[in-house]
Amino acid sequence: MNQVPLLIIGAGPAGLSAAYRAAEAGADVLLLERSGKAGGQLVKQTHKFFGSEKQFASTRGIHIADRLTSRLEQLPGRVTLLTDATVLGIYEDGVVTADISGTVQKFRPSAVIVATGAYEKTLAFPGNDLPGVYGAGAVQTLMNEYGILPGRRVLMVGAGNIGLIVSYQLMQAGVHVAAVIDAADRIGGYLVHASKIARAGVPLLMRHTVVAAGGSEEVERAVIAEIDEQWQVKPDTKRTLDVDLICVAVGLSPLADLLYQAGAVSRYIAPLGGHVPLRDASMMTTLDGVYLAGDVAGIEEASSAMVEGELAGLAAARRLGFEGGDTSGLISACLAELRQLRAGPAGGKIRTGLALAGVYA
Ligand SMILES: Cc1cc2nc3c(=O)[nH]c(=O)nc-3n(C[C@H](O)[C@H](O)[C@H](O)COP(=O)(O)OP(=O)(O)OC[C@H]3O[C@@H](n4cnc5c(N)ncnc54)[C@H](O)[C@@H]3O)c2cc1C
Repeated sequence: MNQVPLLIIGAGPAGLSAAYRAAEAGADVLLLERSGKAGGQLVKQTHKFFGSEKQFASTRGIHIADRLTSRLEQLPGRVTLLTDATVLGIYEDGVVTADISGTVQKFRPSAVIVATGAYEKTLAFPGNDLPGVYGAGAVQTLMNEYGILPGRRVLMVGAGNIGLIVSYQLMQAGVHVAAVIDAADRIGGYLVHASKIARAGVPLLMRHTVVAAGGSEEVERAVIAEIDEQWQVKPDTKRTLDVDLICVAVGLSPLADLLYQAGAVSRYIAPLGGHVPLRDASMMTTLDGVYLAGDVAGIEEASSAMVEGELAGLAAARRLGFEGGDTSGLISACLAELRQLRAGPAGGKIRTGLALAGVYA
């Protein structure tokens, strides 16, 4: 059994930021990441990020990941980052198990921060198990991490930011985007992303859904149709698109299984992406000493994931008795920054969600 002061699960923007702030305050940190490199979703993002200057706006996601990771080197010996390290369980007695490069190890941390991000939602339709039907995350991984084209002609399902950005990235890679469709009556993502695609002649079809994928061995076509006010398919509007790739980008949900297993209380809050573990203003869940940060706390953006990570890192360090630097001042600054990031019309959904969760006014 390995005793560790602070164990952080997931080295995306939230986990990396939590590790930095906790270590800076004086805590020794073990940061476990299941994939082969740190950065989370950022390692797939070739576009320049929106957000505030402090959270690296106008920098490409992949470069933000590098900066957050190399920042840990400023605190030598404080943070141990292990990749290929998947946390398997958090148990009621506080023990955490992880598969680290093929060997299962047990830890007994004094505090834990869960920063595991999100999983993609999908859609049920005939043929959705054919090769060629992908989630947007898989498409990005193939294209941007492995340099593999997932198809030649794509139907994008979902006109939120992820659907729009991935459509543009597919176009940059030479893939023909036959259409971007969405069941909603308006585009969910930022108009700047939608305009780039529309200017290139891609039809953006609202109030449309995918009815079926067709093909013998793999996707060879997609049937789409308009839907009515009750979200029912209008049969006479069905038409077939000649595509070999259907990319489903219909939203994310918090990846909180570890917290549910440990007994954290959760609630279904639609504006936060589905079931979310409840937490207090310092990011502590209903489990004593177990914190969370980032998309696992509610689907938002990398900018807020970083600030939530810093907040959780500072709060966990303070709980462990580390008050190096101005911990209280930094905690107040994080809270103010989150309020600022969530101000204005773009933050309306998250404000509603957090108000329902009882943590944000
Ligand atoms: C196409 C796209 C475009 C985006 N554009 C923007 C943008 O312009 N601006 C912006 O601010 N945000 C943007 N985002 C959102 C942003 O990427 C996420 O909000 C952010 O990455 C969330 O950070 P996180 O650390 O909570 O989760 P993630 O980045 O998902 O990191 C979670 C990490 O936890 C690891 N993990 C999960 N389970 C385990 C386990 N059991 N054991 C060990 N490790 C585990 C995962 O491997 C992952 O590395 C975009 C997202 C996408 C998909």
